[in-house]
Amino acid sequence: MNILILGSGGREHALAWKIAASPLTDKLYCAPGNAGIAQEAECIGLDLADHKAVIAFARDKKIELVVVGPEAPLCAGIVDDLEAAGIKAFGPTKWAARLEGSKGFTKDLCRANNIPTAAYQRFKQAGAAKDYVRAKGAPIVVKADGLAAGKGVVVAGSVAEAEAAIDMMFGGGLGSPAWEIVIEDCLIGEEASFFALCDGETAIALASAQDHKRVFDGDKGPNTGGMGAYSPAPIMTPAMERRVMDEIVLPTVRALKKAGAPFKGVLFAGLMITDKGPQLIEYNVRFGDPECQVLMLRLMSDLVPALIAARDGQLKNFDLRWYDEAALTVVMATKGYPGAYGRGSVIEGLDQAAKVEGVEIFHAGTVADGSRILANGGRVLNVCGRGKTVREAQARAYQAVDRIQWPDGFCRRDIGWRAVERER
Ligand code: AMP
Repeated sequence: MNILILGSGGREHALAWKIAASPLTDKLYCAPGNAGIAQEAECIGLDLADHKAVIAFARDKKIELVVVGPEAPLCAGIVDDLEAAGIKAFGPTKWAARLEGSKGFTKDLCRANNIPTAAYQRFKQAGAAKDYVRAKGAPIVVKADGLAAGKGVVVAGSVAEAEAAIDMMFGGGLGSPAWEIVIEDCLIGEEASFFALCDGETAIALASAQDHKRVFDGDKGPNTGGMGAYSPAPIMTPAMERRVMDEIVLPTVRALKKAGAPFKGVLFAGLMITDKGPQLIEYNVRFGDPECQVLMLRLMSDLVPALIAARDGQLKNFDLRWYDEAALTVVMATKGYPGAYGRGSVIEGLDQAAKVEGVEIFHAGTVADGSRILANGGRVLNVCGRGKTVREAQARAYQAVDRIQWPDGFCRRDIGWRAVERER
């Protein structure tokens, strides 16, 4: 089949790498793609916000499956538009994508279906929100509704900090004034991510991962889109995975079906593993980036039939096989990220780095200039290692990082520290 991937990051490079390896894949396209994806797929300069253009391209190239990577086109309804045009698409509809697009919607769904999550209230006015915060005390978590690229959450250590966050969000500090905020209890525990493939009726477990959101070593500095990740997450034992499926993922899939918005695609549950069990922090409606990269490295089965089965509502008796190995990815970013950064610096040594045993390099923000690879974004490369343990995967990834010559780039040197410490 001819397949089109939408997106341009490390997640989409990992998907392209896996999909290109499928015997079912005839011709693979990616829009808009990047310099690394261009080694696996033909990259096309489509504007993903222009659904008509995407549909016209898919028709012209006889695309039989569109795989949507990022959340923005999902929340904008690209799957609805593609399917209405008769083109099969993997991912949730706009209606189901509210699980990521609206925190209030997700919290209400959890409350109505007994899905464990932090106690909360929704607010449209700063005054009432502040009264609630004062009554509850700190620590407390303030969240703006809507997609905010990870910046819409403040874990406030004091009431004053929570009040400042409320003013900031309603005052337009996130770009435009929040129309609603959610205030919730602060959960204590260890965070993990869990991924499941859903077909509207049922779901099958993918795998777990842990990521590092802060920019600097020791989990310090501002939040980013993610500076590295590894899979599996040691805290996600088979028993814990079962609980997450039974208590969180499957009730969500059933609830959405009942609400007339069946969820098809990847459900990414951000979890806090507390002493009372798993609690849902948030949902995303697509693969995580950089978690997807480590998941794809661990997946033994062909991804394409799984995506089709999810789209077709046929996951019931589906099974996926995984390598019994750990995978870890180190994100290399342009100096200055997550603040302002330059573009166009030259990256060398990628071929040598890729020769390290068990290493795979996925591109995030790169562009080709003849035979040269230039940095073209904040997060630029995902240097991934596989190994029998997280420690071995980590050692291989950093061995490859050290072969890359890119003076304008940087990375954390401690990705996976928690798991490595556990293994010791
Ligand atoms: P979110 O965008 O909802 O994933 O939140 C971003 C981060 O804020 C999470 O990864 C957590 O580290 C933290 N966070 C969000 N909600 C809570 C909560 N209720 N309790 C503790 N930490 C939270």
